[in-house]
Amino acid sequence: MDTADLHMHSVQSDGEWSPSRLVKEARREGLRAIALTDHDTTAGLEEAFAAGEAHGVEVIAGVEISTWLDADVHMLAYAFDPASAALVSLFRDARSARRTRAERMVERLTELGKPVSMEAVLEQAGDGAIGRPHVARALLRAGQVGSMREAFDRFLGDGKPACVEKMKVTPEEAVRAVHGAGGVTVAAHPGCYGGVDGLDRLAAAGIDGVEVRHSLHDAGLTERLGDWADQRGLLKTGGSDFHGPGPLSIGGIRVPYEWVEAMMRRVAERRADVRAGGGPC
Ligand code: ZN
Ligand code: FE
Ligand code: FE
Repeated sequence: MDTADLHMHSVQSDGEWSPSRLVKEARREGLRAIALTDHDTTAGLEEAFAAGEAHGVEVIAGVEISTWLDADVHMLAYAFDPASAALVSLFRDARSARRTRAERMVERLTELGKPVSMEAVLEQAGDGAIGRPHVARALLRAGQVGSMREAFDRFLGDGKPACVEKMKVTPEEAVRAVHGAGGVTVAAHPGCYGGVDGLDRLAAAGIDGVEVRHSLHDAGLTERLGDWADQRGLLKTGGSDFHGPGPLSIGGIRVPYEWVEAMMRRVAERRADVRAGGGPC
């Protein structure tokens, strides 16, 4: 049976392997299709598409988007146009929001008598997404705290004086951007967010489907999520959420290729809607 693994991360976010290596490994595991779903970036897709051509693996455009709905909620997006302006600006906004947040934390630390420079923070972040650990490490480097632990306990932990709230996209914003880019959105690993009970609010945001198969889902939850999607005529997806060598290999969780075909049918319908000027988006 043809199968697909629709969830994995490369070095473009927090994975250990390059996009090409993921594709080669997928080939070795006998997968017909994969989707590369890095966190909040499509930077690895071009390399993955080229490797897919070279190795005979179908590579579907993917991304895992962090959205905010009382808490951090991940959404997966598939089969969109990576060059779409709506999508590019969604991720650019997220990047600039992270930078602005780091600048505000630096300002507060200065007010608190623990000055650290933005340059030092950027140096810690390198090419990656700037976050609190980078601010903490810069503080440690500058000798303002004795340990990372102290940096979080006194200044940067939740509710501490130099902690600045994250600015996040809402599920609605993510859905709108992905639909505008001709793709579909799927609720990632609902097992992390209250299972089936948490799904209705995401359904209201306009998701196209649910990640049914995931290592965090036991057989019972997998079945309930599948029923939930079937009852509403929504897509089912799944994948390994591979980040690097560990207990689960690429393809360690996989789905029938028919689920990919169903996704592509929905994508075609959505694009026809967009061309006709109709549809909810
Ligand atoms: Zn990750
Ligand atoms: Fe996730
Ligand atoms: Fe993931």
